[in-house]
Amino acid sequence: MPDFITLTGARENNLKDVTLRIPKGRLTVFTGVSGSGKSSVVFDTIAVESQRQLNETFTWFVRNRLPKYERPHADTLEDLSPAIVVDQRPVGGHSRSTVGTMTDVYSVLRVLFSRHGTPSAGPATAYSFNDPAGMCPECDGLGRTVRPDWDRILDPGRSLANGAVRFPPFAAGTWQGQAYTNTEELDPDKPVGTFTAAERRFLMHGRPGSKVTVNATGGSWTTEYEGLADRFERLYLKRDLSAMSQKTRDLVQEFLSEGTCPACAGARLNRAALATRIGGRNIADCTHMQVSDLIGVLKEIDDPVARPIAGAAVAALERIDAIGLGYLSLDRETSTLSGGEGQRLKTVRHLGSSLTGMTYIFDEPTVGLHPRDVGRLGDLLLRLRDKGNTVLVVEHDPDVITLADHVVDMGPGAGAAGGRVVFEGTPAELAESGTPTGRCLRRRTALKEHVRDATGALWVKGADRHNLRDVTVAFPTGVLTVVTGVAGSGKSTLVAEFTAAHPDTVVVDQSSIGISARSTPATYIGIMDTVRKIFARETGAEPGFFSFNSTGACATCEGRGIIYTDLAFMDPVTTTCHDCEGRRFKDEVLRLTVGGNSVADVLEMTADQALEFFDDSGVRRRLSALRDVGLTYLTLGQPLSTLSGGERQRIKLATRLHRTGAVYVLDEPTTGLHMSDVDGLLGLLDRLVDAGNTVVVVEHNLDVVAHGDRIIDLGPDGGRDGGRVIFEGTPRELLSARDSSTAEHLRRATG
Ligand code: ADP
Ligand code: ADP
Ligand code: ZN
Ligand code: ZN
Repeated sequence: MPDFITLTGARENNLKDVTLRIPKGRLTVFTGVSGSGKSSVVFDTIAVESQRQLNETFTWFVRNRLPKYERPHADTLEDLSPAIVVDQRPVGGHSRSTVGTMTDVYSVLRVLFSRHGTPSAGPATAYSFNDPAGMCPECDGLGRTVRPDWDRILDPGRSLANGAVRFPPFAAGTWQGQAYTNTEELDPDKPVGTFTAAERRFLMHGRPGSKVTVNATGGSWTTEYEGLADRFERLYLKRDLSAMSQKTRDLVQEFLSEGTCPACAGARLNRAALATRIGGRNIADCTHMQVSDLIGVLKEIDDPVARPIAGAAVAALERIDAIGLGYLSLDRETSTLSGGEGQRLKTVRHLGSSLTGMTYIFDEPTVGLHPRDVGRLGDLLLRLRDKGNTVLVVEHDPDVITLADHVVDMGPGAGAAGGRVVFEGTPAELAESGTPTGRCLRRRTALKEHVRDATGALWVKGADRHNLRDVTVAFPTGVLTVVTGVAGSGKSTLVAEFTAAHPDTVVVDQSSIGISARSTPATYIGIMDTVRKIFARETGAEPGFFSFNSTGACATCEGRGIIYTDLAFMDPVTTTCHDCEGRRFKDEVLRLTVGGNSVADVLEMTADQALEFFDDSGVRRRLSALRDVGLTYLTLGQPLSTLSGGERQRIKLATRLHRTGAVYVLDEPTTGLHMSDVDGLLGLLDRLVDAGNTVVVVEHNLDVVAHGDRIIDLGPDGGRDGGRVIFEGTPRELLSARDSSTAEHLRRATG
């Protein structure tokens, strides 16, 4: 097998004829400032081409059913191996996917219970909540049901004649409500809270054969009495909600509550499955425990026949624990996991597989990881390598860079100022080099000496969600607070409680900016209207002429700039539109210029270049916000869909600056940021606070921790062993805190 993956003349995005030899069977880390071109090499070139070459080996019949990849812009790409991308995209939304099903540990437990549990419910599907043989019939294996919220529908203090039924369609005085006020079986003037059990049963479910007389236009008639609960269920629960009007749906929603399924108590399984026990526990008890506890329970199984199966489950669980996810339970729905947790679980799955000779590609695997757990993550990457795989990692964390066999440093700048390989070699050589990464590797974390004084406090009182144990804590106002702690210690939960208690907080997260594929930084920060008006004023044309979504669009490509040709069973090709040469506008529009630039030229400017071009104060203010959040390298016309999570978070922040007296909450704002970009972020957070705002960030990055005015450290560990505030104070005070992993790592970084 060749020893290197080689690529020559790579030109995706900002890459400038990049030529590289990447050693096979080794761990290579790609680093460099944000926007320098790391992802363009690793994802847009290497991963895409290896997937495309793999797909080519299939028959066209299969190929037609696979996602289609275009050949990346590069002269040659040789000796690739099949690539597996382990990214941070959400693991999958549906509620039948749990940590247990995703890692396959649950199927091992099913075998264990079906063969060794007593009494056995049958084969292994009898323990599957995704199979009719095992699922709880009440909730179809979801563990939750939607039911009428009777506390809301009925007011126990009122009588039926006097408004006890609060659900408007059944209220007293309506034609449906008459059944309850007119029935001879119930006293319409007695508060429903004082009904006997029999009266209550009649109100809700009636009795076969009982009648009631109601009045309507055209006279009165006698019909069958239908209980309140039965009627509600028949009309609103057993029917397809989508068939009702939006107004009805909204109304009904208000009177429903989602709750744990009463039949299985959330266990998702039917009675037979739940009756089977091993050592006094059923399978749901096992999946409800946190992984680190379940390991101990399974190890106690001493039946010689059951041991090998239990051992297989233990091996998989120990891998989960080893990367710091021992606080999760197997019944946790994967849709509730963070991106980093999901990525680490996917890694665990690959560690258990026996494939070798693959290329594994990771995108910032340390996201969400406390420095304590970065070492364990590094071990995982090395183990993947030692199984005979090539491991490529895009990462900024110095501890991961140090582990690499080989480092590729991209730069020197971002966007057009980047796209070159500025260093290749070992981590030790990098630390001696003059690149921005090399310089950062040599520096120590600087502790903030002069912290700001709080102007007041916003409280979270008695929080007990998830693993939080009656946490009462003050978030000081007018300062920068950093919430720290190992993964699973409760940071996100605490911050969510904080934002719930103070709803006017500005939460700037990394979730997608759900807008059209045609959105660009220019449209997102809202300067396009003014830009079009300026062009219209100066040239005398209509403003719509300067929009590629409107009359100005090139007719051939409809303003896309590219033409996408799907060749059915060959690779699709996108070609630059030959008419507008990718500029998206009609010729007539391109001929209209302001200060020598057409509107297409403006969209090719970076924020910095545009600042030199525009005088309009509103446009300048919005552009300088892009500079403030470190996104000067983006061109105004780059599709937003190409932004990373960290870039999305920063562009959102750019549109929410220029406020004062606000409370900003940011979750890991250093995601995707190179060490040298962190200084810029800290400057921005400082400016926010100095302008009279309160800033709360959840962070693991020690440069940010050291720069906080106040630290709230949760722990000491994750899950059951976390959920407490173990330290509150300044970074300097944190240095002398005991039993805090954050303190330990801060001492190391500053020492
Ligand atoms: P990194 O991974 O180092 O942060 P990227 O490879 O994502 O950098 O980006 C390199 C440059 O290419 C940046 O200027 C980025 O804005 C630009 N870029 C990335 N993806 C696209 C794309 N699909 N279309 C146009 N420009 C892109
Ligand atoms: P951190 O942000 O410090 O990583 P979290 O607040 O995400 O920690 O998690 C704290 C605890 O709460 C963990 O035990 C975690 O498994 C649990 N937890 C978090 N989110 C959920 C959820 N949606 N459902 C159930 N448990 C959760
Ligand atoms: Zn159920
Ligand atoms: Zn065109």
